[in-house]
Amino acid sequence: MNTTQMAGTSEEGLIVAHYGVAVEVFFAAMGDRRMIRVKRNSGHVVGDRVMIDNEILTRLARTSELSRMDARGNVHLVCANLHILGIVVSCEPLPPPGFIDRAIVAARATGLRPVLIINKEDLPGTSAYRVEIEAIFGEALTTVTLSAITGSGLSQVGGLFGAGLRGIFVGTTGVGKSSILNGLLPALNLQTGEINEVSKRGRHTTTVSTLHTLPGGGELVDSPGFNDFGLVAITARQLALFFPGFEAARETGCRFRDCRHRDEPGCAVSELLAAGSIHQERYSTYLQILTEVESLTIEPKYRVMRHRRKKSG
Ligand code: GDP
Ligand code: ZN
Repeated sequence: MNTTQMAGTSEEGLIVAHYGVAVEVFFAAMGDRRMIRVKRNSGHVVGDRVMIDNEILTRLARTSELSRMDARGNVHLVCANLHILGIVVSCEPLPPPGFIDRAIVAARATGLRPVLIINKEDLPGTSAYRVEIEAIFGEALTTVTLSAITGSGLSQVGGLFGAGLRGIFVGTTGVGKSSILNGLLPALNLQTGEINEVSKRGRHTTTVSTLHTLPGGGELVDSPGFNDFGLVAITARQLALFFPGFEAARETGCRFRDCRHRDEPGCAVSELLAAGSIHQERYSTYLQILTEVESLTIEPKYRVMRHRRKKSG
């Protein structure tokens, strides 16, 4: 009865763009796409797989969720079902202190693979900077160096996503994310190039968030709100578990499961620090970020819960 009817009319689709009150859905089976109206706080995001029945969306289970934090500490869901977080940095401008650490923690906590993308290879300061950050993060993750301007290393960045992987870039303004996107997606250039010449906001005014298919396979999500601010949302617990440089401590384990590695008894991080296996610099960075994250933790949690209760279709 009802079930047969539903099976006949409902189609599975993928949200490829979000415009606030409408989403663009791609239907792989038909190879077409169309706009569907949604409530402003529907909770749907780009990357969501949905069933559509009479223009009503039902979201399918997510494999991952990536959130960002705004300047007031509010948490916003950016994108779902991602595989790779491309952390874009440059020697000019440098990322703010703790930026790479936070991004790695967010990626690990949400099951994404973090990749460090060093842009502006053509600048003379890049080689020293690369040595510096590879010494800190090189063991924990893959790094790729490129120049969006000359195009060197660009295909390597595209290759990260291969067939079937979906990624997003995070990085503060000016590191070259738009330039990399334009390099990887020539079609995007045609659409936005001229508008961007006049006002850097051209692309940002029309679309909140878009998923693009890469010519060589894979997908990239362009999410200006996320890209521009670039601060991923992490909790103190996630930081304690996934901080880059504390991998060995995680294997041993601390006495307390929710250890924050300050001065708790039986802390594996303290032991490795005393033994010299964890560098003092890494530990100081950790403590700084921990203090920042703790000062923001109560408010965002409350807001996320309120948001969840509200959404209904
Ligand atoms: P976004 O804010 O991260 O999207 O950065 P943009 O793509 O808008 O680039 C910021 C500035 O850096 C622009 O002036 C770009 O021309 C410049 N830029 C981007 N990639 C490179 C690069 O590989 N080398 C150099 N020298 N400059 C770059
Ligand atoms: Zn500990």
